[in-house]
Amino acid sequence: MLRADNIRVTFNGLEVLKGITLEIEKGQSVLVVGPNGSGKSTLFKAIMGAVDYTGSVSLDGMGLDGMPPHMRFRLGIVLAPEKMRVAEDLTVRENIEISGRFQDAVDIFPELRQIARRRAGILSGGERQMVVFSRAILSESSYLLLDEPFQGLSDENAERIISAVEKQKKKSGIALISHDRIEDLLEISDRLVLMLSGKVRKVMEIDSPFHAIKKLEKYMIL
Ligand code: ADP
Ligand code: MG
Repeated sequence: MLRADNIRVTFNGLEVLKGITLEIEKGQSVLVVGPNGSGKSTLFKAIMGAVDYTGSVSLDGMGLDGMPPHMRFRLGIVLAPEKMRVAEDLTVRENIEISGRFQDAVDIFPELRQIARRRAGILSGGERQMVVFSRAILSESSYLLLDEPFQGLSDENAERIISAVEKQKKKSGIALISHDRIEDLLEISDRLVLMLSGKVRKVMEIDSPFHAIKKLEKYMIL
């Protein structure tokens, strides 16, 4: 289990995470939703060790606090960050081969074959997102954190991501932040966490996606 317990993060004297607790189990997928600025991305960065926090992060009972991101990555925690960050001077193929076989990425997104030798710095947003997602899903992750993976992608590619995530659940625990395709994501999610202003406002176990949507509508405008 990957567990973040009572996480607090302060930027410039302003507390943006006010004691967040989140648990992710292997084989489960947790959907994190909430308005812009509610602290979702900061929570994932804290779990990865990419921002300073108080509280504790543990992996199967082992404390990770003080450990830098690359060490957490080696332990199997993989973050696909928002805003489509890629190694700009490497080609698409090289970016993906940092993590795994290029062919496995092409199996998810056939379009990658045509742009394999393009430098990642000149890609469109959607193309970058395919690279970011491929790199994350091909890593040997035991826990996969996906921050807004559908940005810039066509419906077809968003669906490819959803089915890749569903498959990955057999091997990894997954936490996913999204504003888009909530109904589709509820179909493959086990738990929904709603964040508001740096706090967890609601945690729902998803037995029925239909009922989860109805409850969520009470808290958010979808
Ligand atoms: P979300 O992902 O839910 O949109 P974020 O975690 O990105 O929210 O941001 C939460 C709050 O923290 C916002 O008010 C944002 O402006 C602030 N914030 C995020 N990153 C930084 C940073 N590096 N420095 C200062 N403030 C930040
Ligand atoms: Mg964010």
